[in-house]
Amino acid sequence: MEAPEAEVIRQHLIDPEICIRCNTCESTCPVGAITHDARNYVVDASICNLCMACVPPCPTGSIDNWRAMPRAQAYSVTMYVLAGLLAVGFVCNLLITPVPKKYYMTMAQLNALDKPTEVQVREESGAAAAAAVSPTWLVYAAWVPVAVPLLWAVWVTLQKAALIFSQG
Ligand code: SF4
Ligand code: SF4
Repeated sequence: MEAPEAEVIRQHLIDPEICIRCNTCESTCPVGAITHDARNYVVDASICNLCMACVPPCPTGSIDNWRAMPRAQAYSVTMYVLAGLLAVGFVCNLLITPVPKKYYMTMAQLNALDKPTEVQVREESGAAAAAAVSPTWLVYAAWVPVAVPLLWAVWVTLQKAALIFSQG
């Protein structure tokens, strides 16, 4: 008995980050495969006849990707890449060896390091003075330009992941 053929998805993806919701694609599609809701334009793969009529008129190039693969293997390439990276990381870990003894520092060198130089003493007193005038709110404020883009990227990634898995 022959094994059933894997179901293949071939679907345009419309990038919601680029789409300006001009409705050109929906009005162009000859078979009504494109619809939209309050947030996104989407292509129904079960209606789309792959005519490509919607792609050139899109003013923002939002409709430029096909996804064509067996549904059951939709994430296999990603998984292979991740597994490969894990294997590379494992080999790199194995290649890490202790520092040869000839590179160890002598006690005299270590003791010399422990003694602060005049420059270090000056720098440390300067740093202490700077810390005294740097209030906590300034530290938090300095983190804002870092944290906001990071949190935004995490939020967008989670949204995209939710979109991908909701199509599965
Ligand atoms: S490829 Fe053709 S059928 Fe499919 S969504 Fe675009 S215009 Fe419609
Ligand atoms: S034509 Fe392009 S920009 Fe306009 S609604 Fe469709 S995908 Fe969005």
